[in-house]
Amino acid sequence: MKKLLPAIALGPIMAISLQAAENKDFNYHVDRFADIEVLRYEVPGFKELSLQQKKMLYYLSQAAQAGRDIIWDQNGRYNLQLRHLLEKIYTGFSGDRESADWKAFDLYMKQVWFGNGIHHHYSNDKFTPGFSQAFFEQQVALLPDSELPLADGQSREELVAIMDKVIFDPSFMAKKVSQDGSQDVIVASATNLYGDGVTQQEVEAYYDKLKDPNDATPISYGLNSRIIKNADGEIEEQVYHLNGLYGPAIAKIIYWLDMAKSVAENDAQKAYITKLIDFYITGDLRTFDEYSILWAEDTASDVDFVNGFIESYGDPLGMTASWEAYVNFKNKEASARTETISGNAQWFEDHSPINPDYRKPVVKGVSAKVINASYLAGDAYPSTAIGINLPNANWIRAAHGSKSVTLENITEAYAMASIGNGFNEEFVIDAPTSKLLDEYLYITDMLHTDLHECLGHASGRLKPGVDPDALKENGSTLEEARADLFALYYLADPKLLELGILDNPEAYKAEYYKYMLNGLMTQLNRIELGKDVEEAHMRNRQLIAKWVLENGKKDKVVELVKKNGKTFVKINDYAKMRGLIGQLLAEIQRIKSEGDYKAGNDLVQKYAVKIDPKLHKEVLDRYSKLDIPPYRGFVNPVYTVVYDNDGEISDIILDYTESYPDQMLRLGRENSNL
Ligand code: ZN
Repeated sequence: MKKLLPAIALGPIMAISLQAAENKDFNYHVDRFADIEVLRYEVPGFKELSLQQKKMLYYLSQAAQAGRDIIWDQNGRYNLQLRHLLEKIYTGFSGDRESADWKAFDLYMKQVWFGNGIHHHYSNDKFTPGFSQAFFEQQVALLPDSELPLADGQSREELVAIMDKVIFDPSFMAKKVSQDGSQDVIVASATNLYGDGVTQQEVEAYYDKLKDPNDATPISYGLNSRIIKNADGEIEEQVYHLNGLYGPAIAKIIYWLDMAKSVAENDAQKAYITKLIDFYITGDLRTFDEYSILWAEDTASDVDFVNGFIESYGDPLGMTASWEAYVNFKNKEASARTETISGNAQWFEDHSPINPDYRKPVVKGVSAKVINASYLAGDAYPSTAIGINLPNANWIRAAHGSKSVTLENITEAYAMASIGNGFNEEFVIDAPTSKLLDEYLYITDMLHTDLHECLGHASGRLKPGVDPDALKENGSTLEEARADLFALYYLADPKLLELGILDNPEAYKAEYYKYMLNGLMTQLNRIELGKDVEEAHMRNRQLIAKWVLENGKKDKVVELVKKNGKTFVKINDYAKMRGLIGQLLAEIQRIKSEGDYKAGNDLVQKYAVKIDPKLHKEVLDRYSKLDIPPYRGFVNPVYTVVYDNDGEISDIILDYTESYPDQMLRLGRENSNL
């Protein structure tokens, strides 16, 4: 549960000074549809890498591609079949491309690609098609049987009947992941992590039986399995591994990981790749823990990657992980910043404004680095995190430390693509605040990510015997809030000036303003009128912002004020705001350390979920005039392999010209492994 997603786009951002773009004319904009903008990212420094490193990145990018179908299937059981069918229609269409039906179909195809299935990647709601059922059925009728993605024994009529339901019935598989604790969250979720007829109570009872509260080094139960009801009506785990569920895709991943191992940078890296391959072969979660420890402890390699079942946001119970991959290499210049922070991890822990019993007496090996991403896949594509901190297992983090990674070139692409979008003029209260954001938001935003990942998630400890899953469906939201609060608290600390990371004691105010503006108002742009806040990071951000607003009311720390009929965030007392942040951090740390489900749930329900409909409508109206997409994601660069006369690889070149549909169709052709 340790990844940081980008907040809403801000801009213009002038102070992009950390890493100058390699190419001033680089075009970040690729595609724009519905609530999405697709960008591309540059990979600075790739050309200067050694051939061996380039080869490793290439093999790892192939290992990343190879697992693509896994996330599609995890997100919903009909997603792969639907994608195959839609792509056949998409590529074979010979009708009128100006017709409303075609345009709506084209849009739906792009949305399904972006969601890795029929649900929105962020809201988890099912997409609504704008084309008619008759149009769809006509297009299917034009395809010969040999082109249809028929399941074993399935007839054409049966395929059309189920696909009609999947596309056009809004009540069928309506929500990918439901976090509504008043219902059975498994029954209410369309995710394919659970089979038919499985209930929340049965799953919880199943794992309660397996879990030993006295086990100091528990495996991550359910991390890599689908839960079904077998023929006898008993709960059974279908484990993801070479000879199990998703075996054909896993076989390809293993092949490419093995190639990567052959060009690994050192023995430590070879050792953890070997462990990861072992894990993919057996599905044994003890092996996964061994791999995670080796991976976290390798801080010497420049090339690095994540490839596996890692984050559990896609599971309503927060146990089973979605498949994802990141391929990257170290940005040495920018890493100096995070190395300074992680080098002082113990100081930050010792001064944290929480109950001293819940501080870590010894912070173990928090390593932090800044990287440039060179390939994104699975649940990290097209929408990606801007920071990651792994491994996730609490006991590994406590005993062996964790690795924290800030994705600099991705953050930079977001910032560059936002220049001149009119956001500040519309939403920021006055010129001095705008100026503050221009000067300090980029650096404080990066620092917020660093502190969130490298120190926030790594800080604190549980009371002995407390179940790490005790906060249940609120676990992700409260964990993200804890990490954000830690980061916000220390952004305003004079220690950062002393360490030479910031040069102005006022700089933190830029991030404080943006955080309140985003949490109280602008992130609402991502939500349809009438709906609640659902996604864990958004809930966390609203929780903090609303809590600070409400608890600072009597001192007027932060206010929502009206100017020319528009609502603005006004921060009157930044120092007091920091005090409130420290208070809330202490309370959320207590909730986590003691596993206080009730207090956590009360906080989430009171502050994180509900939206004032009047303010919501105002934000949507003001945004619509700006045409800023609420969500953004990325296409990857294309790896072009250059061979010499002997057929050996002599170079690898990145190409940045592929369009969004071309990339999606190519990935479908090259990686239909399930
Ligand atoms: Zn996080």
